[in-house]
Amino acid sequence: MSDKQFTSDVVIVGAGPTGLLLAGDLATAGLRVTVLEKRATESNLTRAFAVHARTLEQLDARGLAEELIATGTALDSLRLFDRLSVEFGHLPTRFPFVLITPQSNTERLLNDRALKAGATIVRGAELLALRQDGRSVGLDIRVEGERVTHTAQYAVGADGVRSTVRDLLGIPYPGESVISSVLLADVRLEREPQEVLTVNATSQGFAFMVPFGDGWYRVIAWDRTRQRPDSDPVSLAEIVDITRTVYGVDYGLHDARWMSRFHSDERQVPNYRSGRVFLAGDAAHCHSPAGGQGMNTGLQDAANLSWKLAAAVQGWAPDALLDTYQTERHPVGRTVLRSSGALVRMALARSAPTRALRSALVGAAGHLGPLAELGARQISGIGIGYPAPRNAHHLVGRRIPDLRLAVDEPGGPARLHEALRSGRFVLVGNDELSVAEPWADRVVTAAPADPHGKLRDTVLLVRPDGYAAWAAVDPSRGELRTALTQWLGTPPK
Ligand SMILES: Cc1cc2nc3c(=O)[nH]c(=O)nc-3n(C[C@H](O)[C@H](O)[C@H](O)COP(=O)(O)OP(=O)(O)OC[C@H]3O[C@@H](n4cnc5c(N)ncnc54)[C@H](O)[C@@H]3O)c2cc1C
Repeated sequence: MSDKQFTSDVVIVGAGPTGLLLAGDLATAGLRVTVLEKRATESNLTRAFAVHARTLEQLDARGLAEELIATGTALDSLRLFDRLSVEFGHLPTRFPFVLITPQSNTERLLNDRALKAGATIVRGAELLALRQDGRSVGLDIRVEGERVTHTAQYAVGADGVRSTVRDLLGIPYPGESVISSVLLADVRLEREPQEVLTVNATSQGFAFMVPFGDGWYRVIAWDRTRQRPDSDPVSLAEIVDITRTVYGVDYGLHDARWMSRFHSDERQVPNYRSGRVFLAGDAAHCHSPAGGQGMNTGLQDAANLSWKLAAAVQGWAPDALLDTYQTERHPVGRTVLRSSGALVRMALARSAPTRALRSALVGAAGHLGPLAELGARQISGIGIGYPAPRNAHHLVGRRIPDLRLAVDEPGGPARLHEALRSGRFVLVGNDELSVAEPWADRVVTAAPADPHGKLRDTVLLVRPDGYAAWAAVDPSRGELRTALTQWLGTPPK
């Protein structure tokens, strides 16, 4: 074995959706980024189908939303079980729906973007060892039979639920198995269902069916009466039986091209950071697919971490900025674990009291009002916000919607998400924006399209991930300068 050496600013382990979004952001910010991926070829195994509104907003802020939307079907509600659905149609977002598209489409767009921005993706790379000191991280990998060492300022483990990075760091992954012997299959149907998502749950089990769009359907099914180890082979007859029982209809499933049995765990690491190494996506948290939130949460982790890492490598990150990745994203992961856990337990309920609660919920679904609204905001990601300092302006830490902006040059950004495509902060206000000129490499400025609207007297500093860093009513130039220095460091000479 030879011992080749490579140097990057950031090494990401894992080219799933989380790692690819992160790589694209860091490369766009001008960093040298290497992604190490165990699989030698791109994955054709799709798991996630649901892309939620907040993820679409993040993709819009990277110029990718329209292309992804063109690959799928937009649904304004997501059926959970029986008649219980989450309604997205009234959410205050440009994307008031859940997009149904195979995960492979999201990964392909993110992969192409990362490569175009200059990231290096090494496939067939097996991680052997990881070490770090106060200045760098060293990763030994084997690729095409050769031992290679990568050194970087920071590393990110985005290597999924069985994360090697997490194991090498010795970080525990506490939790429990929530459901086992879940059947997965890709099949053709003799009779097409009327709905895009065909979902139901009964006391015997549940079934979920979704089209790939090319004649193939993904089926996920669970039969309470047939609990087997993951290693047991799956038969099509088993899947036909449970889907027929749960739907009460025989869709004529045939020609399975792929079948598998899996179990779903609910786990979360206590710390998303260990020195110079971070964990993101399924490497940091996993839960049942109920509500379709796993990939979405991983993509939000990446969007939260990327600009902080870029600022740290470029040398202007405020003290402790990197630690906010833990304080902001760990509670979000915990909430997702709880909500998807509650959904799956409710869907699988067998005990009389839980089934009674479930029936009551379904019966009352139309009248739940604020609770249903809260559920829709949480599942879609629109309601997620981050802790703000005491006495901060009420917008600080909140997601900022896609504000209309005054266009000051032809082709200039007309909306906040377009301005965020620069990968920089956006300073929105009517006055005094020239204060930001010395930081032009870190912040773009824009006036609201309506100078007399809600933001009339407010100046708002939006982080690259679309959350408010700072806001004030009628700030002086000095206050503005202080806020910019706090978030963007000393301006370059
Ligand atoms: C049946 C099912 C349905 C789902 N449906 C949804 C849904 O509708 N919506 C949703 O949001 N989520 C859903 N999920 C969850 C979603 O698929 C995951 O949360 C998502 O794939 C996590 O992305 P990731 O990038 O963090 O990890 P992964 O997608 O697992 O990617 C990790 C990558 O790291 C690579 N890797 C692993 N180990 C190493 C190593 N040692 N060295 C180098 N590379 C390595 C892997 O090959 C892989 O490419 C579903 C999951 C399942 C099982």
